[in-house]
Amino acid sequence: MIGTKPGICGLPLAAYKPRAMDHGYGERSRRQDGRMIMNEDKAHFAPVDPVKAGFSASCPRCGQGRLFEGFSTIKPGCSNCGLDYSFADSGDGPAIFVILLADFLVVGLAVWTELTYQPPVWLHFVLFGPLAIVVSLWLLRTIKALLIALQYKNKASQGTIDRG
Ligand SMILES: [Zn+2]
Repeated sequence: MIGTKPGICGLPLAAYKPRAMDHGYGERSRRQDGRMIMNEDKAHFAPVDPVKAGFSASCPRCGQGRLFEGFSTIKPGCSNCGLDYSFADSGDGPAIFVILLADFLVVGLAVWTELTYQPPVWLHFVLFGPLAIVVSLWLLRTIKALLIALQYKNKASQGTIDRG
């Protein structure tokens, strides 16, 4: 399986080379007994609501800096607080939610419109074609930012072996 990238809801299984001890969550330091500990960075930044960070596509740590450059490309880091975004990997998670939610919304609306007004077919294409595209793109960006904010908040990352 090495070299492939299987994933379930944005959690890659054997996805990539292990990164060194830095997951972007803050400086790590070594205690007296040699075990690694992770410094909490909550001391410096008030917690950011992941939903707010998702809707505003902003940094999961400070809530101010932008998360994306361009449409949905993740920036290397936060321009406001300097958080390294290399930990962020939502994989194919956002796509699943976009498919489920956009389908539900747009197809539901199209069915309701048909049952209520019986418009001609071309009107369905004109209305719901562009709507599906716009809703999907907006959802993709928002859900990607939301999943990254949740990943940051819950410190989700690759499992590692604690060798003492
Ligand atoms: Zn930031």
